[in-house]
Order: sequence, then structure tokens, then C-alpha cells
Amino acid sequence: MGEKELDFIHEAFASNYIAPVGPQIEAFEQEFAETVGAKYAVAVSSGTAALHLLLRYAGVGSGDLVFCSTFTFVGSANPILYQGGRPIFIDSDYSSWNMDPALLVSALDRHAAQKCLPKAVILVHLYGQPADIDPIQVACNKHGVFLIEDAAEALGAEYKGKSPGTFGLAGFFSFNGNKIITTSGGGMIVSDDETLIKKVKFWATQAKDNASYYQHSEMGYNYRMSNVLAAIGRGQLRVLSDRVQKKREIFERYYEKLSSLPGISFMPEPGFAHSTRWLTCLTVDPIKAGVDRDTVLNELEKNNIEARPTWKPMHMQPLFRRYGGHRTVAERLFANGICLPSGTNMNEEDIKRVVKVIYSCWGT
Ligand SMILES: *Cc1c(COP(=O)(O)O)cnc(C)c1O
Repeated sequence: MGEKELDFIHEAFASNYIAPVGPQIEAFEQEFAETVGAKYAVAVSSGTAALHLLLRYAGVGSGDLVFCSTFTFVGSANPILYQGGRPIFIDSDYSSWNMDPALLVSALDRHAAQKCLPKAVILVHLYGQPADIDPIQVACNKHGVFLIEDAAEALGAEYKGKSPGTFGLAGFFSFNGNKIITTSGGGMIVSDDETLIKKVKFWATQAKDNASYYQHSEMGYNYRMSNVLAAIGRGQLRVLSDRVQKKREIFERYYEKLSSLPGISFMPEPGFAHSTRWLTCLTVDPIKAGVDRDTVLNELEKNNIEARPTWKPMHMQPLFRRYGGHRTVAERLFANGICLPSGTNMNEEDIKRVVKVIYSCWGT
């Protein structure tokens, strides 16, 4: 936490709005929209809830197709199932680790020819790095397909100078405990479309009709963010740029020390992207390195250092077995990928300790 969060929480307590409604929520939404450069924002209980609302808005219903990046966290894909949709998982490219625009374009063209276009495309911006949005947006516009950006991991990043999440018809962010800023749990929908924003806000608050009594014509959800958590979010927004800077510095330290080891490749940063380096990620090529990913992870574990494999792609998940097949790039990024400790409270000594253990795996 930064310095301002408790002040805003005190404001929330003083106003006595300890509820999923109140002035902190409105202020957080407005400040957030300004931060990312969107017209409107709606604060919700999680990023997953945000995506669920957006898929419903996109009209995804039973049996409808939804295209989604395969290399991601399950929160990007579960809401497809909530709506009874059928995911088609798109592979990554090596230049961004995110959705390969060429594959998306050809998949959309193929499905258009067969008159079975998806209702939506979920484009994920992974590990703080934007995907190559432009060609994907052009293809979605061409076919009239709803583009939803999953920017849960990419708050603070830039694609050609603008925040990811603001290119599609709507985007969303997450404030789960592991994200670059957090409210313990929470999410935010952003869009320039006022009709969309009003509708998702309506559904998120139990779809209460405009009446003096409780009347409901549509099914709703209890998906709004608490006023107390929005107070935390306002404080966190004020440390976002410091966090991005610190995350990038951590990446730089690792890069300086590790990039010369044979077989190590860091997640690249393409020309269109300014990544936050939310997590410092790299791959270990077992042939060039003479050591594999799991050996490195185990050695770190033995030294009480927590590191993780990169996300296991969705098409490889038992949950999505029947939507499977092969996605070779994502499979390779998973088989060889490591997320290094990247917390913004890490100091020089901490980084040195991680580096030393990794060196030992290369026998140096
Ligand atoms: C965290 C995350 C989500 C889900 O957000 P929650 O707030 O945890 O529900 C969705 N997509 C990605 C890529 C994420 O990292």
C-alpha cells in the first residue's frame, strides 16, 4: 500500500458508505477513466465479473463462439462458459507472447466464409505487455465482431502511446491482490460507449428497474465494488507510475545479469509496446542451456525463492479439453517459461540472491 489509501478509507468511514455504493466508487471510476484515457469506467467486484458482463453485452449465449487468447490465466476464459459459449483459442506469436494477429485475421476470415463468426474476441495483454492491437481491431471491425480487451495484467502499459483496454468496444482491468495495483479484489470496465456502460452497471447492481419499489425485468448480478475498496483503489492509482518504473527497473537488473546465459530469452518488448514488466518472464531453451525450466524452478524453490511457470495455455487445460488441439507457440512458452519474483518491494540484494541461484543451475 502507498500513503493515501488510509486517508481515503477514513473518508469512506466518515461518510458511512460501507456498501457497494458511494462517493469513493464514483471518484475511483472517474480517476481511473482519466488515467487510462477512456470516457467511462464502471467499478466491479473482479476482473472476471467485468468480463462476464461484457460477454453478456456482446450477446454471447448458448453455443455461441468466442475467440480468446490461449496463453492466459483462466479468468480470461471462464466467463465464456458462464454464458454457455464455446471458446476457440488462438495461439501467440513470439514477438509479443500475445495473440498472433495473422492467426486471428485468418480465423475470422475462415469463419466469415462459413457464416459462423464469433460473437466476441477476447484479446489478452499478458504480463504487462500489450498485444499488437491495431490489426486485430481492424479485423474485428471488418467482420462486426465485438472486441473485448483483457487488460487485467496491463494497467500502466502503452500501445502506441495509449493504454491497452481502450481500443476495443470495451476493456477491463483487475485489482486482485497479485496485480500491479490492488484493492484486495476488484475490477474495472472501461469504454467510450455510454449505452454499454449504463447497461453493465445496471446488470452489476441486480438489474433494478427505475421504480420506487424493488422491481426487476432482467436478470442481474451482485457485481459492484465496495465503496471501501474503491477508497483503496484511489490511493493505489497514485502509486501506479512509481510501480511501473520499479517493475521496469527490476526487469533491467535481471536482464543485465542473466541475458548472457546460454538458452535464456526474456519476454521481448516489441516497438509498439511500452510494457510495465508486471512480471519479469523468460524462457529457458533446454538444448542451448543444458538445463531445463523445472530444474531452475526446483533450485529456486530449494532456496526458498518462489518463482512460477508461465500460464498453462487454456487449450491444454483439462477444463477445456474438448476445445483442444495444438497451439505450438503457447505450448513452447509454457514448457520453457518462468516468471521470476518481481515484487516492487524487492531490493538489490533480493535480486542478487535470485540471480546467484540461477547461475548455479548453469554451473557458474
Ligand atoms: C487476474 C486476471 C483476470 C481476472 O481478474 P480477477 O480480478 O482476478 O477476477 C483475468 N485475466 C487475466 C489475464 C488476469 O491476469
